[in-house]
Amino acid sequence: MSEPHAAAGLRLVLVEDEPAIALALTDRLEREGFRVTHCADGESGLRAAQDGSVALVILDLMLPKMNGTDVLQAIRAGGSPVAVICLTAKASERDRVSHLAGGADDYLTKPFSTDELVARVRAVLRRTSAPSRVEAAGIVIDFDGHTVTHAATQNVAGELRIEKLSALEAGILRCLVTRRGKATSRAQILDAVWGRYAAVTDRTIDFNVKNLRRKIEIDPESPRLLVTDHGVGYRFTG
Ligand code: CA
Repeated sequence: MSEPHAAAGLRLVLVEDEPAIALALTDRLEREGFRVTHCADGESGLRAAQDGSVALVILDLMLPKMNGTDVLQAIRAGGSPVAVICLTAKASERDRVSHLAGGADDYLTKPFSTDELVARVRAVLRRTSAPSRVEAAGIVIDFDGHTVTHAATQNVAGELRIEKLSALEAGILRCLVTRRGKATSRAQILDAVWGRYAAVTDRTIDFNVKNLRRKIEIDPESPRLLVTDHGVGYRFTG
């Protein structure tokens, strides 16, 4: 079940005041290869989260000293791009949306299984820690700048062909490139790009893939980089 993952060895901060939950999560995450710093209140959690070496923060919302919402606001106000997954007992849609809008990368409602948390941690890290620049079969993808440069295609003026990607197209491409050579289902793309709760249809994914092909393929009608894996989904072959 546990796939080896490049994120193993990364440092996580777990901010959780319930000792039994903190112990169970720390134990499981360490067995998955992560290094875990546990903090039992919001103030110490914020201090730990502001350390630049932290890849991801798992943040309970009901905390002593400083609540999780304020911790999240302080993290983002300081300009930190660290990934944050919020934990809460409140399941209402309004809370979920407001916390995602407030800068959380994902959201988990108690009670949840440790398997579920590990899957979410991996999905968020895949989104946030992939390389910013990837070269593949004649194209250079810049995930920060959202561009694809065709290294061998020039116009009459001798300028390279450069295509601008939308944020969604860049997200889908990042998901497929991270799994380079492997078939990726639409459900995996949805989970990686929009998050599990999103109401996104397969048609939306297919529409964005079609646009992506127009930008990265020499001949979008006969794709060679972003191929369809019939019955599974899509595969990046570059
Ligand atoms: Ca709590």
